[in-house]
Amino acid sequence: MEAPDLRVYNTLTKEKEPFRTVDPGKVRMYVCGPTVYKPSHLGHMVGPVIFDTVKRYLTYLGYQVTFVINITDIDDKLIAEAPRQKITVTELAERVTKDYVENLRMLNVTGVDHMPRATHHIPEIRTMIEGLIAKGFAYAASGDVYFDVTKDDDYGKLCHRDPAQLEAGSRIEVSDKKRNPGDFALWKAAKPGEPAWDSPWGQGRPGWHIECSAMSVKLLGQTLDIHGGGLDLQFPHHENELAQSESYHGTTFVRYWMHNGLMKTGAEKMSKSKGNEIVVSELLKRYDPETLRFFLLATHYRRPIDYSEDRLDEVRRGLEGFYRFFERFERITKARFYDLQAPSARSSFEPGQPATEFLVEIVRLWEQFLEHMDDDFNTGGAIGVLYELLTALNRFADSRQLESAAADPADIRALQRGALVLKELSQILGIFHQPPATRETVSNELVSGLVQLILEVRNDARKNRNFALADLIRKRLGELGVSLEDRKEDTIWRLGGTC
Ligand SMILES: [Zn+2]
Repeated sequence: MEAPDLRVYNTLTKEKEPFRTVDPGKVRMYVCGPTVYKPSHLGHMVGPVIFDTVKRYLTYLGYQVTFVINITDIDDKLIAEAPRQKITVTELAERVTKDYVENLRMLNVTGVDHMPRATHHIPEIRTMIEGLIAKGFAYAASGDVYFDVTKDDDYGKLCHRDPAQLEAGSRIEVSDKKRNPGDFALWKAAKPGEPAWDSPWGQGRPGWHIECSAMSVKLLGQTLDIHGGGLDLQFPHHENELAQSESYHGTTFVRYWMHNGLMKTGAEKMSKSKGNEIVVSELLKRYDPETLRFFLLATHYRRPIDYSEDRLDEVRRGLEGFYRFFERFERITKARFYDLQAPSARSSFEPGQPATEFLVEIVRLWEQFLEHMDDDFNTGGAIGVLYELLTALNRFADSRQLESAAADPADIRALQRGALVLKELSQILGIFHQPPATRETVSNELVSGLVQLILEVRNDARKNRNFALADLIRKRLGELGVSLEDRKEDTIWRLGGTC
C-alpha cells in the first residue's frame, strides 16, 4: 500500500519527501527515550506524544506500525544520582522508569510496542562493538573502546557539516586515549564500585550511542523507516548512531530522520541540568492530562514549544468549548459523544443525499484536516481545523434550534454525522477518548444528586422572587467550582470554568 499524499520532512536531506517505507504497508519507528535518573519533565513528553500521534495517523492510513522507545538505564548521570538518593542504580532506574511510563499512560500515549532497556541488551551491544573493531571502525584503548570518526567517509552527513566543524561547535569528551578528538566511546571501562559487565576489554559498560544502534536492529531490523527524537539529539547522538549502524551493516540505517523542536521556558531549553524543568507528575495535579496533550500537539512538531502556565490556561479554555459541545450533543441526541463509533481508517467521505450546505462544509473540513496531517504531520494546523469544525457544529445547532422540542429529526441526524467526523479526527490526535478526570467526578451520582437538590431549592427561591438567596447559592456554588447557567426552562450546571 502507499499513502500517495503524505510527505515527511527528513533532516538528512532537509526536504519534505514522499513517504515510502522499506516494506510496503509496514513502518518501523524508533524514538530515543529518556535517561532515567530524574522524574520526567514536560519536555520528555514532547517526543512520545508526537510520535504516538504519528503512529495513530499512519495506522489510520492503513500502515502496520511498530513503535519502539528505548530507556537508557545505565549512564554517568544515574551513577552520580543513585548514591545521593541512597539507592542502587537499578533501583533508581526502576523508580524513574515507572514515573515515565505512568506519565505516558496519563497522556494517552498508547502506541509504544517495545520499551527496551539498555542493560537488558548488553550481549548484542558487545557483539556490535566487536564487529566494529573487526571491520576497522573502532579501537580498544586501556579498557575503553572508541569509534574512529576518520574511518567513516560520510561522518557528519546528518548535521551537514564536516567532522572538524562538528568538533569545534560541541562539547567533546576529552580523553588522551582517543586517536582523534571527535572519536566517541562505544564501551567505557568501569571504575571500582560502578555497575559493570564483562567484556573482551575488561569490566565496563556501554556508551550511550551504541545502545540505540544495537537495540533498534534487534527489534526493528537494519533499516528503520522513521527515527525520531529531540532536535538536541541530532548531534552527537544521532550522528553517532548513524555512523555505527551504517559502518557495521553497510546498509542505510534510517529512511526518515524526524526531529522535534524542544520545549522552552522563556528563551531557554527546558532541561534537568538547567533546573527550569516542569515535572509532569506535579503538573498533572493542576492540569488535566488532555490539556497537556493538546498543548503539545498545538505547535508544529519541528518548532520549539513555548511553555507557560498562561498558555496552558488558554489551551484549557479552548478545550472547554469542545466539552460544552459534547454536553450539548448529549442533550440533543441523548447519545454520549464519547460512545460514538467513528471510522478508524481513512476512507472516502461523501456528504450523502441530500448534500446540505452543512454536510458539504463538514466534508471540506475533514479534507483540510487530513491535508494538514499529510503535510509532515502538521498537528497545529489540524487542531485549527478542529476548532472550525466545532464552530460549524454549534452554528448548525443554533440555526436549526436543535435543542427545541420541534427540532427536525433530519437535522439531528446531520448533527450526528458531523459529530462523528469530529470523533474520527480527534482519534487521530489521541484526544476526546474519555471525559476529562474532573468531569468524571461530575458523573458521581451523589455529587450530581446533591447539586440537583440545591438547584431545586434555588429555583423555588427564584419563583418566590427571593433573588438574594438565589444569588447567594450561585456565589457559594461558584466558590466550590460549580458554575450555573440559567435557561428558560431550567438551570444547567458545570464543574469548573464558566458556562
Ligand atoms: Zn538514541
